[in-house]
Amino acid sequence: MPVRAPERTTPPSMVEESLSDFAANAPPALRPLYLVDEQLVPLYETIADCPSCNLARTRSKTVPGSGPVTADLMLIGEGPGQHEDELGLPFVGRSGQFLDQLLAAIDLTREDVYVTNVVKCRPPENRDPETEEIEACGDYLEQQIEMVNPRVIVTLGRFSMAGWFPGDRISRIHGQYKQIGGRYVIPMYHPAAALRNGSLREVIHQDFAKIPALLQGKRSPRGEHTFEVTATPFVDGPPLATPPPSLRTTQFIETEPESIFDRPGPLPGQEPLL
Ligand code: URA
Repeated sequence: MPVRAPERTTPPSMVEESLSDFAANAPPALRPLYLVDEQLVPLYETIADCPSCNLARTRSKTVPGSGPVTADLMLIGEGPGQHEDELGLPFVGRSGQFLDQLLAAIDLTREDVYVTNVVKCRPPENRDPETEEIEACGDYLEQQIEMVNPRVIVTLGRFSMAGWFPGDRISRIHGQYKQIGGRYVIPMYHPAAALRNGSLREVIHQDFAKIPALLQGKRSPRGEHTFEVTATPFVDGPPLATPPPSLRTTQFIETEPESIFDRPGPLPGQEPLL
């Protein structure tokens, strides 16, 4: 059953970059992605001036992220490519078009979700981001996670996956969620991988189809979340066709991780997922 992003309870205070001719001249379909919630503006400004690594010397524009600070779903890619560097928006090239299709298939749009990358500036020639570059940007990603406070994080590709699942192989764990720091983290292939290797298209679609079940939680006044989970849990060995009853309904108290790289043990009264 397709799931719509929950309605905002209060109208967000938006700062539209229509001040800038640049955004005003962007293709109409992209203009909504230039809307920045006021809460995020200071961070985006800090990123715009960031001198912390060599990517600052070669970037055209910083690419902090897109989407509402109220999003329940955050998608984290690798780093901006050429189009992203020119437009200052994440996932607006070919990978972005495929990402839009993947979201549309679960009845979500780019305006419903928060999208960012592990590095906010384009690595030259689209090379892989280097460890120092990822580390230099790590604090920005942590702040984004803290502010958006998403219920579900989808990592796209191996670089964003490595923050939560160091040493694991994407071919082994893609599409299997893990509960970390009070939210679900679910690693997936990068959309660009499917553009290179057509057989992964269906795999990514199937993995995206697991997102709605993870988003269906209700927030109780005490900050407890109750999720009706039907996606495949993260277990060793082949994925389970049907989750064990103990995992179908998972209750947990929301806890904030000290760091996004924390790997807390099972929460009280819960079966470990590993
Ligand atoms: N690939 C990424 O990982 N991020 C983008 O923003 C665009 C392409």
